[in-house]
Amino acid sequence: MTEVIEELADRIRSAGSVVALTGAGISTPSGIPDFRTPGTGLWENVNPMEVAHVDVLLNDPAMFWAFYAERFTTLQAVKPNPAHMALVELEQRGLLDAVITQNVDRLHFAAGTQELVELHGTIQTSRCMTCGTTVELDEVRELASGSGDGVPRCICGGMIRPGVVLFGEMLPQDALFKASQLAAEADVILCIGSSLEVHPAAGLPQVTKARGGAIAIMTQGPTPLDADADFRLGGDVVVELEQLVAALA
Ligand code: ZN
Repeated sequence: MTEVIEELADRIRSAGSVVALTGAGISTPSGIPDFRTPGTGLWENVNPMEVAHVDVLLNDPAMFWAFYAERFTTLQAVKPNPAHMALVELEQRGLLDAVITQNVDRLHFAAGTQELVELHGTIQTSRCMTCGTTVELDEVRELASGSGDGVPRCICGGMIRPGVVLFGEMLPQDALFKASQLAAEADVILCIGSSLEVHPAAGLPQVTKARGGAIAIMTQGPTPLDADADFRLGGDVVVELEQLVAALA
């Protein structure tokens, strides 16, 4: 056990409020490829940032859904890993107030995290663009494969869209407000597997810091906030979180 983890555990023990901010790195051990790396097979030469764009959804829904249905299939098979479970355990023991995530893979939800803010939405639910009815992941895949053009449609006739923030869209204001509030009230913000480069999520640790809280970064590779970090860990996220849970036992 490293000294940094012992010190971080002490700080968490004495903290009034602790929140976690997670990014793609917490899902890597579950086998999720980085969305920004080139795809495989059919989508090998396609830039996800161009296809998973709100303009494509509106102008070429068949193309959009051909891409997204495959993404849903890939992500639905993926399971939470011990890093997600470690955060559930900390929450159950009253040592973690909430998880704020940049991920849409619904793995914190699947693991059992109760207080969860999904800044970029989630693949768990999709919704009708006309009447707002929500549709679960299983059902939207059936609706997509059962329609002639692969575009899932609601019984009202409206087109269904994923419950995630697409490229070209704003983040949901309620989630962003909740996340800012949590960050402002936190004595420790635990940044896990996030390169802290994508705003506005990347600004949350500084909200905590400005109010006298501590920043802990548990991420492989450099981040723009390394100089502001009170605790800096950069190894295997599963190992480090399990060591933290053990140190807090
Ligand atoms: Zn509808």
